[in-house]
Amino acid sequence: TATRDLLLSRIRDVVDHPSPGIVFKDITPLLADPEAFTALTGTFAELCVRFGATKIVGLEARGFILAAPVAVSAGVGFIPVRKAGKLPGATLRQAYELEYGTAEIEVHAEDLAAGDRVLVIDDVLATGGTAEASLELVRRAGAEVVGVAVLMELGFLGGRARLESALKGAPLEAV
Ligand code: 5GP
Repeated sequence: TATRDLLLSRIRDVVDHPSPGIVFKDITPLLADPEAFTALTGTFAELCVRFGATKIVGLEARGFILAAPVAVSAGVGFIPVRKAGKLPGATLRQAYELEYGTAEIEVHAEDLAAGDRVLVIDDVLATGGTAEASLELVRRAGAEVVGVAVLMELGFLGGRARLESALKGAPLEAV
């Protein structure tokens, strides 16, 4: 579609970032273009309505930038999932495997509860580890995952396959 073409045209490939051999998908040109940013926010807000989401979880850090305006526009709460050690209150913490080593993310335990229907938003799905761990957190908090929405999926990294069982049938949408 025209919207999809516009959005993808505003993502810049940065070669050898953050390390040699990596082609980093830089979304800052999209954020700087109000037409594209508004189109993306609108697309995600439509998903929020279609899935009947009552809360939006954004993944640090670029996920925050995308998820916050969607939450405002859809009229639902925004919940941050952060790297371990950043959130000040009582948290649930989830570890996940990286290529080398492990990482941990957290959510405020009181931000999610049974009955909440959560749409998880991030910019890029790479290996899927971050998204998979975030789904664990949402469910451990007692809430239901109604979908995952990303701007872009790096298909060659197999994130969709890694997420498959964690999704438990919830849709994974890429623009
Ligand atoms: P994963 O856990 O799926 O391997 O990595 C996804 C996380 O790393 C996301 O939070 C995403 O923001 C970040 N990430 C990984 N690769 C890229 C990339 O090429 N571009 C951007 N913008 N983010 C990336």
